[in-house]
Amino acid sequence: MGGSLAGLSTANWLCATGWEVDVLERACEPLVDRGAGIVLHPATSRFLTAQEGLPLDDFSVAVDHLRYLGLDGSVVTQHESRLRFAAYGALYQSLRRSLERRGGRYVHGARVTEVRNAEETVHVVLADGTRTSSELLVGADGVHSTVRRLVLPDVEPELGGYVAWRGVLDEDELPDHALRPLERAITYTILDHAHILTYPIQGADGRMRRNWVWYRNLSAPGQLAELLCDRDGVRHGLSVASGAVRPELVAGLAAAADRELPPPLATLVGRTATPFVQAMVDVTPPHLVVGRVCLLGDAGFVARPHAAAGTAKAAEEAWLLARALSDPAVELDEALRAWEREALHLGSALVTRSRRAGERAQREGSWKVGEPLPFGLRSTGDSEF
Ligand SMILES: Cc1cc2nc3c(=O)[nH]c(=O)nc-3n(C[C@H](O)[C@H](O)[C@H](O)COP(=O)(O)OP(=O)(O)OC[C@H]3O[C@@H](n4cnc5c(N)ncnc54)[C@H](O)[C@@H]3O)c2cc1C
Repeated sequence: MGGSLAGLSTANWLCATGWEVDVLERACEPLVDRGAGIVLHPATSRFLTAQEGLPLDDFSVAVDHLRYLGLDGSVVTQHESRLRFAAYGALYQSLRRSLERRGGRYVHGARVTEVRNAEETVHVVLADGTRTSSELLVGADGVHSTVRRLVLPDVEPELGGYVAWRGVLDEDELPDHALRPLERAITYTILDHAHILTYPIQGADGRMRRNWVWYRNLSAPGQLAELLCDRDGVRHGLSVASGAVRPELVAGLAAAADRELPPPLATLVGRTATPFVQAMVDVTPPHLVVGRVCLLGDAGFVARPHAAAGTAKAAEEAWLLARALSDPAVELDEALRAWEREALHLGSALVTRSRRAGERAQREGSWKVGEPLPFGLRSTGDSEF
């Protein structure tokens, strides 16, 4: 249930271990352009490299440096870095092609509305009334997970008190004086109780783009509700998608960029026509398996993005699940319990580490210019290649 990166990773790993898999995705079209970049982690690329034999360069780009810019735009410090970055669309398309080759079924327009555990079967009802059942339901339906709400109704996202503004701009649209200080690097600027980062990604059309994320604290009650009201007046739970943010908020962000950011980053943010906004939350479910339903990716634990490992967590959980289910000597419910123990540990440790990094940057102001990044899935630093 859910055909984004967590659902596709799970489907691929399960297909590879002999399961018959259907992916139920509510969106009617492929999820190619979500306007986002992903810091790659070896866990995220494991399926594509180890099982499909794809070279990393097919779906990601590398940089040489971690660079910190000062407020005047000059380089304050720079260290070597072996991080890689992918466009959401590149990962999605590679994982979909692989699922197709392996005979997994991907169904669009399949919104799950009801889920019922019964003995050794899970029954599912879709919005159009279709009924289906299976031995196992993997809930990979994201931060707003319907299945989490159905099986663990008391679990609510906890707000972190700040948002991430994000955007992507074609490098062609950046003047030379703005692009040059960012080249071949992941670039950070530490601001007053805020921070911004940018790194390169490659679009499906081969063009180089600049992905950026600007973390900004909420300063007044009601500000989040205002940010989450889209251009049509629709109120959203935790995010407003690219293209749907109200024009006055986009203009306000560009003006704030001019006031608060180093010139290259102000240009990058100011020229991005369709930035989007996401509230920062922690989600910490007490269980990840309820009967024959398991919660994976953002449907389970949600960590703030400072460790850059949400997709990596989903991919790791998918790999662990397939491994747990691949031993024919172990009965399915026992295998699920073993998986849950590992995944609970992985998720809660990541949430704690990511929350701490966010608090240091956004509340304490103790994230120092030049520090190594808090990126990593199981431990800080394990995202490098
Ligand atoms: C600012 C920011 C930066 C990030 N940077 C990184 C990074 O650099 N590296 C990294 O590893 N992670 C990063 N992450 C985390 C990462 O984006 C998420 O953890 C990951 O995308 C979650 O994937 P998912 O498949 O679980 O959820 P989603 O991508 O949200 O997918 C859920 C899917 O379920 C479908 N769905 C929902 N409800 C239903 C239903 N009822 N029936 C059927 N389908 C349904 C949706 O349409 C969607 O396709 C970042 C997150 C943020 C907010």
